[in-house]
Amino acid sequence: MDTASEIRQRGFRKWYERQLIESHLAFVTCFLCGITAASCLSALSPGRPSGGDLALLAGVLAACLLGWRAWRRYITVLERAERYGNRSSCPTCGAYARFEVLASGCRAEGPYFDPPTDPLPLPWLKVRCRHCAAEWRMPD
Ligand SMILES: [Zn+2]
Repeated sequence: MDTASEIRQRGFRKWYERQLIESHLAFVTCFLCGITAASCLSALSPGRPSGGDLALLAGVLAACLLGWRAWRRYITVLERAERYGNRSSCPTCGAYARFEVLASGCRAEGPYFDPPTDPLPLPWLKVRCRHCAAEWRMPD
C-alpha cells in the first residue's frame, strides 16, 4: 500500500506512529546483529583455525549484512516519517494531523527524483485542513 492510501485509511497520527515503530524495530534488529557479530568474533579461536571457525565467520558476515540492511531501513523509514511529520501541522491554524488527502503524486514529476538513491517512495500529498480548509503540500 502506498503512503497516500495508508494515510487516507489510518489517518496521519496512526501512520506516523507505525512508521516510528517500524523504524525502531529495524534499529533493534541492527543492534542485535551487532551483538551477534561480536559474539561470533569473540568465539573464534585465534591461532588454531578449525571447521567451526568458518561457520562463525559466515555468522559474522550474515549478521553484518542483515545489520547493514536493518540500519538502512531504520534511517530511510525514520527520515520519511520526519519529512511528512514536519509538514503535518496546518500552516494557517496550526492544527496537528487534522487533514484529509486530496491528491498525491510521484516524485518523478519533480526535478529531484533519483531512483537509485531513493529506497522508499516519497510521494507528494496535497492535503486540506479539516479545521480551517487551508490546503498545502507535503512533505516539502
Ligand atoms: Zn487549519
